[in-house]
Amino acid sequence: MEPLADIIIDRVVESLDHPFTYRIPPELVDAIAVGQWVTVPFGKSEVFGVVRHMRSGSSEGLKDIKTIRRLDPVLTPVLLELAEWMQDRYLCFLAQAIRAMVPSAVRNDIRARPAAVWYRVQRERLGRRSLKQTVFEYVSEHPGVERQTVLAAFPASGPALQALVREGALQAFAYPPNTHEPSRPMLTEHQAQALARLKSGPNRAWLLQGVTGSGKTEIYLSLIEGVLAEGRQAMVLLPEIALTPQTLTRFRERFGIQVAVWHSGLSHGQRRATWDGVRQGQIGVVVGARSAVFLPFPNLGVIVLDEEHEPTYKQEEHPRYHTREVAVWRGQRERATVVLGSATPSVESRYRVHQGELELVELPERVGGRAMPAVTIVDMRQELKEGHREIFSRLLKESLTKVLKSGQQVILFLNRRGYSTFILCRSCGTALECSDCSVSLTFHQREHRLFCHYCLNEFAVPDTCPECYSDKIRHFGAGTERVVEEVNRLFPKVRILRADRDTLTRPQDYAELYHRFYDGEADVLVGTQMIAKGMDFPQVGLVGVVAADTALHLPDFRSAERTFQLLVQAAGRSGRKNTTGEVVIQTYNPDHYAIRWAQTHDYPAFFQEEIVNRKQTRYPPYADLWLLLFEGEQDVVVQERALAAAHELRSRWPNKDVLGPAPAPLARVRGQYRYQVLVKSFPETGDDDLTSYLKELKIHDRQLSLTRDPYFLM
Ligand code: ADP
Ligand code: ZN
Ligand code: ZN
Repeated sequence: MEPLADIIIDRVVESLDHPFTYRIPPELVDAIAVGQWVTVPFGKSEVFGVVRHMRSGSSEGLKDIKTIRRLDPVLTPVLLELAEWMQDRYLCFLAQAIRAMVPSAVRNDIRARPAAVWYRVQRERLGRRSLKQTVFEYVSEHPGVERQTVLAAFPASGPALQALVREGALQAFAYPPNTHEPSRPMLTEHQAQALARLKSGPNRAWLLQGVTGSGKTEIYLSLIEGVLAEGRQAMVLLPEIALTPQTLTRFRERFGIQVAVWHSGLSHGQRRATWDGVRQGQIGVVVGARSAVFLPFPNLGVIVLDEEHEPTYKQEEHPRYHTREVAVWRGQRERATVVLGSATPSVESRYRVHQGELELVELPERVGGRAMPAVTIVDMRQELKEGHREIFSRLLKESLTKVLKSGQQVILFLNRRGYSTFILCRSCGTALECSDCSVSLTFHQREHRLFCHYCLNEFAVPDTCPECYSDKIRHFGAGTERVVEEVNRLFPKVRILRADRDTLTRPQDYAELYHRFYDGEADVLVGTQMIAKGMDFPQVGLVGVVAADTALHLPDFRSAERTFQLLVQAAGRSGRKNTTGEVVIQTYNPDHYAIRWAQTHDYPAFFQEEIVNRKQTRYPPYADLWLLLFEGEQDVVVQERALAAAHELRSRWPNKDVLGPAPAPLARVRGQYRYQVLVKSFPETGDDDLTSYLKELKIHDRQLSLTRDPYFLM
């Protein structure tokens, strides 16, 4: 019997997707630990791997572990377990899960840059006058100043800074330190009650539902304070674009040095420093985008997932995890409280409350009793009927004039800028739908035909509306540029900012845009739903939704849910501080329930209707979805592969729904043809070996990608 270790090899290859056993050589026996990063011989080469288990057994025919690359384990046992759970649930490779947890910045840490350093005064005064003295005084006047700023103000002051730190006159931090006592507002009665419930049982998962401005963030802060006092850590997850300076400032003001951020804009050096700080327990709070859910906290006390309904929590690349699921899994496994926060929870989460899997805590009112903004719906069919064909209805134009004159700011939303076009009748508001699937048909320019991306049905583009025979039927979608033009035409003096996927590409861009609008550099902000959340502008007196229909007609079973959420979130941007906001929603479908219930901010009413639809159409939460995406160079071949799989699925699992194959909405990408098959599996018919079949299929078809619970059916 000899000491052995099972090693997960850091290679994304099917044949290596399970641990391999190695002998632990005597010189490593004392040093080795589960979770360590090691090198092992593989074939003729040497590869990296992670120690999964240690045990004893016969070492016959086994090779030796070569080196331990890093003494401290890179992964906790819980994260190793999580990797295996992800392998099963999302059918990803173990190495893909591991890579999501150990960012390349850490893997290549030898090449990393030095970490940033900040200073604050430690001792009262210094002896004699010198560059050192000058620098010292500068830091006294600018507490929490960053090293780079000091160097810019006093060239060649590096040695002086070092000396000051050595002498104990300054303190250096890896993060901006606290420079003043944080202020804590007295919690309102609702907040205090909510907080008491969240604290009532650790190891539980909660849905915190509260309208925008109801004080959810304040509750997170209080909850985290308690957790830090117990010596545990906190993880706060936000959609990437909600990581605005304003949100971070609130956390920094409360927790100062203990807060780190985690998002795609970090340098390798920052990433590595943060990851190390988290693993060593030096960082108490991380505010981050979805991949922060994998950070190796030693003693996690709370996980907050704000704006839990946001589709960006679904990772669309391998490993295709859902952040919410991982968060709930970790919370349970690590005995941490999980709080999912939203003004408009996902239908799935709210359903889980009914199923008893999540507990509901509500904040029914805005802080300070401020009223929800008044929402007016404008029927654009009526506008057209009365001879008004412009982008802005008469009412929206009037409100624009009034609000701009009063010196307040305006936000104009286009809702979603869909990549796909749909055909809409401007007389009656009908969008052309598939007769079998009741999802909107997508217009394909090249063929000049309409396709259903669920069932492969294909239709000619009609000249007249099938409902009302009007000839005012055409494809739809005014872009943000068009809206900017129109504002310019109507109000030539007004200053405008545009925000969409073309103008905002990096996380810094959001921050900049946010500051510019906040500081009053523009009167009107025109944008897609990207700007609908996380941003709090006190001077906004009017929010106009130029086209509410765009999201309503995406070929997606979540389109009503998305529309409702976007409209409520957009409305929440109006009247945040002292102003009473006004909201105008323009639509060709004023009677659609998503729009009607958004007008009155009535989530329960919306949920009631939506959940009935989901049940009838057999979509989540009543079904588990698997999306199979087949790709390849030859159209016919790809289609045949998809057909064969669909046929097999139908004959082996008659009690599941198998849709397709149909061309993917993006039918051809980089010369690759794409077909998809959608499988709906129903919990009540029992769980069976579908995933093992899919796994098998994937082994034989390298150009197949599998997504559990897909969000973008492209
Ligand atoms: P949400 O996260 O639900 O949108 P916030 O926590 O951001 O709500 O609160 C909305 C506004 O009200 C913020 O400006 C916040 O500082 C303020 N606020 C929250 N709680 C209180 C309180 N108890 N007393 C005074 N102001 C509060
Ligand atoms: Zn019509
Ligand atoms: Zn169809």
